[in-house]
Amino acid sequence: MIVVGSGPNGLAAAIVMAQAGFTVAVLEGSDTAGGGLRSASLTQDGFVHDVCSGVHPMAIASPFFRQLPLTSFGLEWVHPIVPVAHPLNTESVLLYEDIQATANQFGRDAKNYLRLFQPIAEHAEQLLEDILQPLLRMPQAPRHLLPFALHAALPASVLARSTFRTSEARALFAGIAAHAALPFTSMGSSSIGLVLTAIGHQYGWPFPKGGAQSLADALLGYLKSLGGSVFTSVQIRDLKDLPDARIKFLDVSTNQFLSWTEHLLPWAYRTLLHRYSYGAGVFKIDYALRQPLPWRDPRTMLAGTVHLGGTLEEIERAEWEVNQGRHPERPYVLLAQHTSFDTSRAPSGKHTLWAYCRVPAHSDVDMTERIEAQIERYAPGFKECILQRASRHAVGFAAYNPNLIGGDITGGRNTLLQMISRPVPTSTPYRTPLKGIYLCSASTPPGGGVHGMCGVHAARAALHDLSYRY
Ligand SMILES: Cc1cc2nc3c(=O)[nH]c(=O)nc-3n(C[C@H](O)[C@H](O)[C@H](O)COP(=O)(O)OP(=O)(O)OC[C@H]3O[C@@H](n4cnc5c(N)ncnc54)[C@H](O)[C@@H]3O)c2cc1C
Repeated sequence: MIVVGSGPNGLAAAIVMAQAGFTVAVLEGSDTAGGGLRSASLTQDGFVHDVCSGVHPMAIASPFFRQLPLTSFGLEWVHPIVPVAHPLNTESVLLYEDIQATANQFGRDAKNYLRLFQPIAEHAEQLLEDILQPLLRMPQAPRHLLPFALHAALPASVLARSTFRTSEARALFAGIAAHAALPFTSMGSSSIGLVLTAIGHQYGWPFPKGGAQSLADALLGYLKSLGGSVFTSVQIRDLKDLPDARIKFLDVSTNQFLSWTEHLLPWAYRTLLHRYSYGAGVFKIDYALRQPLPWRDPRTMLAGTVHLGGTLEEIERAEWEVNQGRHPERPYVLLAQHTSFDTSRAPSGKHTLWAYCRVPAHSDVDMTERIEAQIERYAPGFKECILQRASRHAVGFAAYNPNLIGGDITGGRNTLLQMISRPVPTSTPYRTPLKGIYLCSASTPPGGGVHGMCGVHAARAALHDLSYRY
């Protein structure tokens, strides 16, 4: 069997098939394998930057990755002291792994915080099995899923205001909910915030020692130990380019799949794929720094991930502006400060910083000044720490990886409809009308993020179709 694309989902599909005894070849268009898990020296010698994903809560919580012997293939998780910091005017709010310590920051909202997140965090393992599969399937733990789903379906602005009274609790939730890349008025825009917060309390928000590439390398090492092979610099431009194989998995966008197969697909399926939509893009900067960030609240240094954007209202506005096709003056910015916890990523005493903000799809606008103004707001003097920066706009991301349509990093908009119907409304959307061909990218359930579950479910669908017991 063949997999096109070596992102985490392509590699997961390959591993499931190799575990079942199939001969597997992965064909990757780029000259290195790993998709959204690549690391590179983007600035200066000795600095290691994550080109795409930089923080991996979904990977540590992935029901599939957790079963694999990845530590035997070099993977070492680095857990920052605190998963997330959210700076406000003078002090930062922190998401601790300890849920009680987190709630204690919120005074009269402490009980509200526990009431919302404790049941989700306590049942995270069962819930993730249900959430990280097509939502049109029967849940395994409906008792836990139902209360979660009732909150998750709400717009983030409604859930934040109806649950919390303090600006601190609202801001922390807003920063995490904004990972959904949706305006806060959209139905379902709470869901990713709920899941990521619960994962923070249950598993943390770690990253692989030495760079995201270490997770790709561990997956590749394990795949090769099962007899699988990977060929890089093999760009597929048409189905006809594919060698003969019984099963073909495509870790590609719906747009690429359509362009290869339009004439072969039934009208109804083709129409659904044409309706599938992609969302906002990102503008990203990687920094080499001469020293750590001079945070106004030094406790911000304890966090691996920092959410910049201020209050719920400010973040809500920034995400709304992007949805309106505008470039916010004060964007919501995601930062990762890996080298505070993993010194292997920079020369002694030096640091890296990973930063991005959302922009309208297909944007080529340079957001450097706006991102740096947001960092300076909470870490005055930051600019003096910069040795070198490397940036990439949304158009650059789309050129870098054909799965990042218009610079969308989530494999398609996370609207409620597209969470249920991704990319088509069936309980096995991996199966295409073409015999033996399965979609397995983040444009299938459960969508974006490094968890491999799209690939796992696609492979299980193929094994089921082959009447294979797994
Ligand atoms: C800037 C950025 C930041 C991100 N941050 C995070 C984060 O912090 N945490 C997180 O969990 N997720 C993050 N993500 C999202 C995450 O990287 C993706 O959701 C995930 O990698 C999707 O996996 P995939 O296997 O579906 O696709 P990809 O990882 O995109 O892999 C697809 C692979 O297929 C190859 N390919 C595509 N078409 C062809 C073709 N025609 N022929 C041959 N090869 C082909 C591509 O080159 C690529 O290697 C981020 C993404 C980006 C871009």
